[in-house]
Amino acid sequence: MTTLSRFEIHQPATTAEASQMLGHYGDEAAIYAGGTELLLAMRHRALSYSHLIDLKVIPGLTAIEARDGVIEIGAACTHHALERSALLREKQTVFAELESQVANIRVRATGTLGGNLCFAEPHSDPATMLLVLGATVRIENADGAREIPIEKLIAGAYSNHLAPGEILTRIVIPAAKSNHRAAYMKFQIHERPTLGLGLWLETPDRGRTFRLARVAVGCVCPFPSRSLQAEALLAGPRAAVEKRLPEAAALIADGADLVDDHEGSAEYKRHLIGVFLRRAFLKAVASDRR
Ligand SMILES: Cc1cc2nc3c(=O)[nH]c(=O)nc-3n(C[C@H](O)[C@H](O)[C@H](O)COP(=O)(O)OP(=O)(O)OC[C@H]3O[C@@H](n4cnc5c(N)ncnc54)[C@H](O)[C@@H]3O)c2cc1C
Repeated sequence: MTTLSRFEIHQPATTAEASQMLGHYGDEAAIYAGGTELLLAMRHRALSYSHLIDLKVIPGLTAIEARDGVIEIGAACTHHALERSALLREKQTVFAELESQVANIRVRATGTLGGNLCFAEPHSDPATMLLVLGATVRIENADGAREIPIEKLIAGAYSNHLAPGEILTRIVIPAAKSNHRAAYMKFQIHERPTLGLGLWLETPDRGRTFRLARVAVGCVCPFPSRSLQAEALLAGPRAAVEKRLPEAAALIADGADLVDDHEGSAEYKRHLIGVFLRRAFLKAVASDRR
């Protein structure tokens, strides 16, 4: 591993100031959150910046708040803060549990949710589950803000839809309701996950039937994706849905652009989707906490 070249750290007081700094330094500057991906990439000379703009010092960007049926998470919240948040555990348990499984404690202590989403490393967990939970993100620059669904943030492997000068400031997740069931399953052999699968179900009768379903896979493909065709098969009476799980898994795999990589072949990942969809279904159905 090579050493880092010299850089200057800037500590803006507001998001608008951070955005102005990005505009001022242009290609020489990047947002610095936890640095777990950024500093590694700079050390390997995959990225090079002489100005880093520290997001964690901006007041409010590490807050976790509940309001009007949603949980608002500041983009600079660390994975560790999220796994330990009593509020998140109460309002969206499945996401707090996911956060407790990200990487290792050293990465979770400094790595942030915003950094994870913006870096869009294919072998990541949160975006897959945020897709099925129906999350939105708030993006700001010096002139204002916009909110978009999470699926419009990630453009591909290591690529996002932020325009120059834009900063991800909040992740907004609908709070769980008593008629929701959800599960996130991950499978991992190496340092990063091989597969992540998120499932969300809406049931009017405590798990006997499912009115709506959302399912997404990540890590097995360049970026997480939902399968609307599979979701149609996951709605209906429980017994019928259970029978259709293999067909739903095949549709998820067909739509996911499965990759052959060091984690395994595309065929192997197709098999994993079948195994983990069933496990996610059983776990989601059992997730009634009343
Ligand atoms: C050993 C190891 C194991 C890992 N295992 C897992 C795993 O199991 N599951 C998983 O999901 N992830 C895993 N990760 C990834 C980890 O979650 C990310 O490294 C971390 O969340 C990135 O956050 P950060 O704050 O460190 O981002 P940084 O490194 O600070 O930033 C990453 C990139 O995003 C940009 N950026 C950061 N924040 C913003 C923002 N708010 N707005 C605009 N741009 C921004 C930066 O400019 C940079 O380009 C692993 C990482 C390592 C090193």
